[in-house]
Amino acid sequence: MKAFDSLNVQTILPEALRPLEVISKNLRWSWRPESERLFRSIDDHLWRETGHNPVVLLKRISASRAEELANDAEFLHRMQQEVEELETYLALDRWYEKQTRGTEDADTIVAYFSMEFGIAQSLPIYSGGLGVLSGDHMKSASDLGAPIIGIGLLYTYGYFSQTLSREGWQQERYTQHAPEDLAVTPVLDKTGEQLHVSVTFPGDREVQIAVWKAQVGNAPLLLLDTNIPANDEDMRSITDRLYGGDAEHRIKQELVLGVGGVRAVQAYCEIEGLSQPDVYHMNEGHAGFSGTERIGQLIRQGETFETALAVVRASTIFTTHTPVPAGIDRFDMNLAARYLQADEQGLSKLAPGVPVARVMELGAEDDLSRFNMAHLGLRSAQYANGVAKLHGKVSRGMFRDLYPNFDQREVPITSITNGVHIPTWTRGPIKSVVAAMSGGRDLATANHWREADAVGSPELWRIRNELRSDLITRARRLVRQSWVARGAQEAELGWTNNILDDKVLTVGFARRVSTYKRLTLMLQNPERLRRILTNPDRPVQFIIAGKAHPADMGGKQLLQELVRFADEAGVRDRIIFLPDYDVTIAKFLVAGSDIWLNNPIRPQEASGTSGMKAVMNGCLTLSISDGWWDEFRDDTVGWTIPEAVTNDERQRDLLESEALYDLLEHEIAPLFYDRDEQGIPQDWVSKVRRSMSIVGPQVSAERMVRDYCTELYMPAGRSARAALNEGAAREFAEWQQKVRASWPLVVVHDVRNETASPVAGGNVEITAKVSLGDLEAKDVKVEAIIGRVDEAGNLVAPRSVEMALNGWDDDRWGASIEIDDPGNFGYTVRAVPKHALLRSPAEMGLVQLPRK
Ligand SMILES: *Cc1c(COP(=O)(O)O)cnc(C)c1O
Repeated sequence: MKAFDSLNVQTILPEALRPLEVISKNLRWSWRPESERLFRSIDDHLWRETGHNPVVLLKRISASRAEELANDAEFLHRMQQEVEELETYLALDRWYEKQTRGTEDADTIVAYFSMEFGIAQSLPIYSGGLGVLSGDHMKSASDLGAPIIGIGLLYTYGYFSQTLSREGWQQERYTQHAPEDLAVTPVLDKTGEQLHVSVTFPGDREVQIAVWKAQVGNAPLLLLDTNIPANDEDMRSITDRLYGGDAEHRIKQELVLGVGGVRAVQAYCEIEGLSQPDVYHMNEGHAGFSGTERIGQLIRQGETFETALAVVRASTIFTTHTPVPAGIDRFDMNLAARYLQADEQGLSKLAPGVPVARVMELGAEDDLSRFNMAHLGLRSAQYANGVAKLHGKVSRGMFRDLYPNFDQREVPITSITNGVHIPTWTRGPIKSVVAAMSGGRDLATANHWREADAVGSPELWRIRNELRSDLITRARRLVRQSWVARGAQEAELGWTNNILDDKVLTVGFARRVSTYKRLTLMLQNPERLRRILTNPDRPVQFIIAGKAHPADMGGKQLLQELVRFADEAGVRDRIIFLPDYDVTIAKFLVAGSDIWLNNPIRPQEASGTSGMKAVMNGCLTLSISDGWWDEFRDDTVGWTIPEAVTNDERQRDLLESEALYDLLEHEIAPLFYDRDEQGIPQDWVSKVRRSMSIVGPQVSAERMVRDYCTELYMPAGRSARAALNEGAAREFAEWQQKVRASWPLVVVHDVRNETASPVAGGNVEITAKVSLGDLEAKDVKVEAIIGRVDEAGNLVAPRSVEMALNGWDDDRWGASIEIDDPGNFGYTVRAVPKHALLRSPAEMGLVQLPRK
């Protein structure tokens, strides 16, 4: 029978249960297991069915169950506890506040832009690592009291859910998410209406953007949404999907995020009575246009482009997340120009007042063929960083052309190694271990946790077994569901109850399926892999998950190859693929695996954070020396797959896979299966303890956010205020123009070593004359540079010492340099621009070396 019409029946929560709504609307519950348990206990089945979404749960709970709970004293008591705990949490005096009280840093506000935020499975605005990192950044900012306001997009469909076809081919499904069903509330303007901002698109079309807010503990996250009736259909779809659509769709999203985001956060601060943000942090290049809009605002206040750029740069941080050029967002120059929309005077209609040609210069690549969002980010920001030490170094190489005439190591891109949010990523049973090791939250920011006997080996091993067992129970259920989705009948699926074994060494591998991550490295020698899996004494099992981007056919093929291997090689009980990798699956996987495998092509993994989550749960690392592991790798806390030195990719993969098999077969499995009389692998457990206590605290997001605060946010806040101070930026911009024009006249000559016979332990005096042309001595920094020399006559890892005018002739500069070791040294002298608002001499790309 067909329905005549439909109607929507909602539960009105009894008054006694209303506080549940408050808890459901602050995402703090997502890292507070007691709150999560409270929701789950309302209706376990519904909890799962709603995808762990308390907002929908509370709408769908039956009237009878609501009535029952409203009279359940124990439930009401737990609810009350959670309400009070949330209030207490929100009122705590935190690290940032304590650290900055009474200083100018106390008032700094940071606007943090990201294309995705992975906070909870029920807020589907993330796809993978970048999103989870932004989510963890927000959560730790809340825990530490760091003054951050997040800005992202509210996607109608989010990212896709993954299932497999019978043949193991990835299928994508997009689900629509109404804002009413998410933990977001409208930001209201002064008239009580939802705040709207707008952005001008070509053809004088105004895109209307509704502003929502998700509350992440103490940190607000503003989410922009174009799917509103005020927009035409094509504009409503701008915020439809994360990473869907073509380049034009992408640039539209980035304009909404960058330009709309600046307007939204400024309006929000005004409504809330907050001071305006001082610091703008672009987490990846997607928000590059935020700088363009801010330049426009200053121009509209009467500043020149140069002055505006100086102010924006002083207050902007750009974080790059990929060492792979193909991972960077680049647009056709014409497409970018079309959306910047020059009027008759060449001024942008997108960011009124800004000369379009100047923005094109900021984003241009060398040959002017592409508009590069990372270049735009770097040229709009005085502060830039990569996300692990190695990644910082690789980034300095990758972007060195933006800083001509300077050594790679002087490229002003530093690094702050990523971290993961401990309360989110530690599963219940291991939390007590982390607590014992860290001795409570303050110590969570120490460099080392307590290792010795914080938790006894039998207890730690028991917990590890429990986590593995949990994972296996869940994996069996997911595999069964997956086969049902692949068209199998329940009756033929009995075997799924017997897959995996909770006593067997379990290797986890889960991440986006992109080529460089090499999902199928383990399949290089299928026979050998099969022998390892089915070894009668020391078996191994793999649990694998990951999504391929819908347009990435190569990725989908790799996935299919893996799934088919598992299906066909008689090892479907030992190698398992779990579809629809998301934060919930990630939590189980990183906790329940014994080994976390990471085998990217070095150095293409910027950081990788899943391995950090694994460490926190007592899972050991097996990785290529790349990303975060490159700086933490240590045989006493994990295993490093040696990198093959060859230019032949096929050969490299073969060698590295053999090394992987060797480690698994000859080192890892023997250590895991070497048991004492009580069945405990003592050496394994010691390694777990060492890994957690040494690596754990250093890969926490608390450490990361503290580093962002002290190394980037506070300095950027100060330089932002300095630039705004009484025309300082204007003076700086004029100074830069003068220096650029006069630079050809700066000449370094007559360089001398004044020390006849230098001795180790003594000093060497270097002097030089510098003709300054139109500049003054205060405008230049003259440096003596000294170091060992290689065969080609280049200085190797030289030291530089600033030279001074005092003590020598009028225009002779000098410095006295201590030399510790004997041997051959080379030296030179250089002049670079110098100004209080210049953070790195490389910024201007100007340098003069002596002429021979
Ligand atoms: C942590 C996490 C990632 C990032 O993993 P990498 O190791 O950086 O590849 C991706 N997706 C989900 C769901 C995660 O939880």
